Amino acid sequence: PYVIASPCIDVMDKSCTEECPVDCIYEGERKLYINPKECIDCGACEPVCPVEAISQDRRVPADDHAFVEDNRSFFVAV
Ligand code: SF4
Repeated sequence: PYVIASPCIDVMDKSCTEECPVDCIYEGERKLYINPKECIDCGACEPVCPVEAISQDRRVPADDHAFVEDNRSFFVAV
């Protein structure tokens, strides 16, 4: 699945939510989250993010790797 990392924090532009064909991008307190169970890996959200916060889980920059788990646990918690 695709993952939203640190650049989204306190930005939440939400352009991505308009592009996602399966509406699997959800709003958290300080950033948006992609539900890994619903994401169909289409890639539509990635280019529209103005802060380049979105990437496929295996291409998430090393510094932001915690966000792969963070995205997953967000949906376990709710
Ligand atoms: Fe939605 Fe596609 Fe982005 Fe997954 S990759 S979050 S399905 S727009």
